[in-house]
Amino acid sequence: MSDHSESKKLPGQVSRRGFLKSGVAAAAMGVMGAVAAPSKIANAAVSNFGLDYTPAKGQWSKLRPTVNYGGASVSFAEHNDQWLGTSKIVGPIQRSSEYDSGFTLALRGLLGEKARWGFLTQTKRYPLTDGIGWAIATVSPDEICIGVPNAEKLPIPDPEQMSQHMKDVAYYLRADEVGIGNMPSYAYYGFKQVPPQGLFPAGIVPPDTPIHQIPNTEPDLPYVITFAVEQHLETYLASTGYDGISVSQSFRCYHAVANIAVIMARYIRSLGYNARAHHFGNYDLAVPPALIASGMGELSRTGDCVAHPRMGFRNKCGAVTTDLPLVPDKPIDFGLLDFCRVCNKCADNCPAGAITHDKDPVVQNGYLRWNSDMKKCATFRAGNDEGVNCGRCVKVCPWNSKEDSWFHEAGLWIGSKGETASALLKKIDDMFGYGTEEITQYKWWLEWPELYKINIPS
Ligand code: SF4
Ligand code: SF4
Repeated sequence: MSDHSESKKLPGQVSRRGFLKSGVAAAAMGVMGAVAAPSKIANAAVSNFGLDYTPAKGQWSKLRPTVNYGGASVSFAEHNDQWLGTSKIVGPIQRSSEYDSGFTLALRGLLGEKARWGFLTQTKRYPLTDGIGWAIATVSPDEICIGVPNAEKLPIPDPEQMSQHMKDVAYYLRADEVGIGNMPSYAYYGFKQVPPQGLFPAGIVPPDTPIHQIPNTEPDLPYVITFAVEQHLETYLASTGYDGISVSQSFRCYHAVANIAVIMARYIRSLGYNARAHHFGNYDLAVPPALIASGMGELSRTGDCVAHPRMGFRNKCGAVTTDLPLVPDKPIDFGLLDFCRVCNKCADNCPAGAITHDKDPVVQNGYLRWNSDMKKCATFRAGNDEGVNCGRCVKVCPWNSKEDSWFHEAGLWIGSKGETASALLKKIDDMFGYGTEEITQYKWWLEWPELYKINIPS
């Protein structure tokens, strides 16, 4: 474990290292490029392969045989019409429109001119992000994300083995976690935004380009492969949210998952099956239900954000929808519903007041979710000129794996054991000052606060 001597602690907080050494812990533990091309291009890479393959022998996965839940106690939920994982479905769920998502509202000027201009200039206000945003934009056009499969289909005698192979592909491409789900039909967008959101911050389209919505006519594909790339832990420990690196943390992961998505989708099309890449620069779906369906987490107090048992929200996710024969994973239950009821750390620390303190989720669009306000979040993040973007909720959530230690893993196990145990873990988390610290020894990036100010052109 690293020396946290430079960590800033609030009065009453104790050193994690000292605590571990003292043995008190043991007692407590009793408990690619935008090309001008036809909109749908066929895979050209494979013309005629042997239409056969040699199955791997023995244990199928050679890369990640077990999922890393970080010590949390995880059970599996059945996929049915009444539940999506641990989220109760109480009525018909309408497909959402990308046009009404938080950042698109900002782009449309509906959250104020400051938020609009802040969103448009977020990459310029932190130059590292400018490079990453440009790289995301190169893999954002429809021509990169969508395509026609090879005419010859590779026979798939064993979909279970193919599922494991696709997970290995994701890990090989540097994903940190991956799951496969039955794609819920309601998770596809009803309407899409044109031009795609990801082209604006990169300056690929002029800022005053009109935005409109079009019906989503893309075919529903039955399976979804979702994957997450972690935001850098030490950087998060040093970041406050009121700095320049917050936006780069997000963009770095968006870029990583975008590359995985477009490569994997093209690979699957080469095998003769339909596959569509989804990432920050070009989505055809709402990511949270796809994540839940593929066993990547549960819905949290933050509203529609899905937390993973090991990473919390300290990641960004991409997806590939496909008709490649696969065997889906089951949604997971690690006790987050009970935990969020007693925790409230994200709500206590959100500078925008966007996260509710309500005891229980409420009905919205046919399912139960906490009544948090994504418009307030988007307004603050896009319009924050004390830094670029935010991420306080990511940092403070106890499920964000703040340390790679037996102590943290034991804590996650406790936290997944109901409300009483959750209250205990929350107290321990507070006692250590988790989420409120600023571990300056990890700060490596440059700051340009003079660039953060949002100067709206007259
Ligand atoms: S990103 Fe910031 S403003 Fe948005 S919900 Fe999280 S803490 Fe609140
Ligand atoms: S900070 Fe607490 S209340 Fe918020 S999502 Fe994480 S566990 Fe739930």
